[in-house]
Amino acid sequence: MGNETSQKELNAIKELVCNEVDARASMLVEASHAIHANPELNFEEHFAHELLTGILEDEGLSPTRKAYDLDTAFEASAGSSGPTVAVLCEYDALPDIGHACGHNIIATAGLGAGLAAAAVAEQMGGSLRILGTPAEEGGGGKVFMGDRGAFENVDAALMVHPASGDLVKMNTIAIHRLQVEFDGQASHAAASPHRGRNALDAAVLGYQNVAALRQHIRSDERIHGIFTDAGKKPNIVPEHSSMEWYVRSKNVRTLEPLKKRVLDCLEAGAMASSCTMTHTWVDPYYADMVDNDTICTLYAANAHRLGRDPLEPDSENKVVGSTDMGNVSHLVPSIHPMIAVAPYGVPIHTPDFATHARSETGDSGVIDGAKILAMTIVDLWANNGNMESAQQEFASAISQRR
Ligand SMILES: [Zn+2]
Ligand SMILES: [Zn+2]
Repeated sequence: MGNETSQKELNAIKELVCNEVDARASMLVEASHAIHANPELNFEEHFAHELLTGILEDEGLSPTRKAYDLDTAFEASAGSSGPTVAVLCEYDALPDIGHACGHNIIATAGLGAGLAAAAVAEQMGGSLRILGTPAEEGGGGKVFMGDRGAFENVDAALMVHPASGDLVKMNTIAIHRLQVEFDGQASHAAASPHRGRNALDAAVLGYQNVAALRQHIRSDERIHGIFTDAGKKPNIVPEHSSMEWYVRSKNVRTLEPLKKRVLDCLEAGAMASSCTMTHTWVDPYYADMVDNDTICTLYAANAHRLGRDPLEPDSENKVVGSTDMGNVSHLVPSIHPMIAVAPYGVPIHTPDFATHARSETGDSGVIDGAKILAMTIVDLWANNGNMESAQQEFASAISQRR
């Protein structure tokens, strides 16, 4: 172990990484706009994968394309010693509404942070892993990457997500997706309705049961479903129907009893209509996020340097959702802060938010996000106990969950 990093040294290196981001500002913003203009769904992010790995190549970081057996994942690294910090880039979009979750900003803020930190990695004695993580919107890219070793020997993992406010963390809850099929008996709806067993009735009754259940669940639990097959023609009693549900709860443990209650509701619908039901829990599930407060505090202090003031989420000011970063946070100390790119109150997953993801404020999110993450990486590489504190906090948070 060398000498403790002085505050003066740390400030100088932070200024350096901010300059490294500024030197690449127009390239990063251009990349953000290009990804925004080419929205791609889960595991089909070929344009973004090509663009981002091309930039890493140009910067001399020799990325691994199609990393971890995923066509649109990538990995690049820098530094040869010391603790390893991973910075994560998401770049998938949503059906019909494009980059309404602003992952173009996540991708390029992460890229900018990685490139800036790489420039000081050898000097600081730190190692870096830049990970391109596809399919956050339901595909669970990070879960597959984690299963295949992407976070082995990683000491901390960072990313930043755009939002309509600066927050040190998101209220992230666990989710499991559910696919349900009902089968009945077709019949002519007018000539012989008594011979029919109506699979749409089964789904509707099941839906109503879940609607009643919603009154009696915890305030941090969410259940939402849609009909994906509701019959073919009004004069044919539907012999088949299907639904898709998202079931969310505070954490993986509290999710299990809720899953059982939802299934009971749906099965009661099948029973009442003399139909049968089959179901599949669609893996991977997303775990709740274990936010590392040590790293959140470092992130907030670095955000202050740029005039941002990330708040703790409260009941008035929070984003509730689920992310595969939650699964990463059970493997290594992790953060998932939110950076303001839209006026207060504009929700993500709306066309309005997609517009803000490619705007002047969106572009500031890219540059500030890159700088804040790069400075936080510097803090974790510094020889001043930050990484040790983050590790200790992680160990005790994880042991309490077992
Ligand atoms: Zn989203
Ligand atoms: Zn998102």
